[in-house]
Amino acid sequence: MRQSRPAIYLTSETHHSFVKVARMTGLGTDALREIPTDSRLMMDIDALQSRIDADRVSGWHPLMIVGTAGTTSAGIVDPLEKLAEVATEHGIWFHVDAAWGGSAVLSPRLKGGVAGIERADSITWDAHKWLSVPMGAGMFFCRHPEAIKRAFAITASYMPNAIADDTVDPYATIAQWSRRAIGFKVFMALAELGTSGYGELIEYQAQMGDYLRERLHQLGWEVVNETTLPVICFTHPDIQQGLLSTSEILQTMYERGHVWISDVVLGKQERVLRVCITSFHTNESDIECLLEEIEYARQRNL
Ligand SMILES: *Cc1c(COP(=O)(O)O)cnc(C)c1O
Repeated sequence: MRQSRPAIYLTSETHHSFVKVARMTGLGTDALREIPTDSRLMMDIDALQSRIDADRVSGWHPLMIVGTAGTTSAGIVDPLEKLAEVATEHGIWFHVDAAWGGSAVLSPRLKGGVAGIERADSITWDAHKWLSVPMGAGMFFCRHPEAIKRAFAITASYMPNAIADDTVDPYATIAQWSRRAIGFKVFMALAELGTSGYGELIEYQAQMGDYLRERLHQLGWEVVNETTLPVICFTHPDIQQGLLSTSEILQTMYERGHVWISDVVLGKQERVLRVCITSFHTNESDIECLLEEIEYARQRNL
């Protein structure tokens, strides 16, 4: 009998690193299922259910659901609780990509926004994103140590035995063998700030995001993404009416060289401007400076 092939469920908004994952693991990009999103760019649960059912019928093996806690483009959090339920019901691995947004768990005010993350089988979370340590410091969490062991544990006569039963040799829990002490910079920042200190930094940046949203609104811009995280995607009636484009605005901003932002395509829609606040140094006057540049560029290109 032909063995069924594994399938991975994600959306158009999922980070493209999963394309690399599919290639590297040998599953191939045929394994990727791009599930439609709803109007808020979250994975559509009904569409996920029907795709899983259809795959089962046609001999595929549903392997993993990828939920994103804070998409790169728009800070959208997939319905993690519901994804966890579907995963449990069908016996599918539930991975949460929390590369940037995962840091919300450190803030009592924001952590409700990523509820359901605690039900993941595995989580990726990058300290070099919102925890402000130098690149790179990606972290991987998995609640199934036996799975990690099966993949990576190995004994070699030339390696010393673990000093004690409760020590874990990193070379036996990850693909890499030799590596730098990447965790040290995270440890030092955490020792200095504590989780509550980090929580304050993160909440402060979310507040700066709220401030930017409010000011954009006052100036006649329209924020198009719905998130409590400080990623702000926005457009202007002048752009929607075709009087100017985001690339013209950006070109002017880049030529002046005072600030840098980018544009992005959300879902299947038109380009919008995108700002992501990830520095605890960002303050209201930085945001006013950004707004001045944006407004200058808009008026200049009309
Ligand atoms: C940045 C990002 C990644 C890529 O992570 P790196 O560890 O920096 O390669 C993956 N997923 C999301 C949602 C991201 O924002």
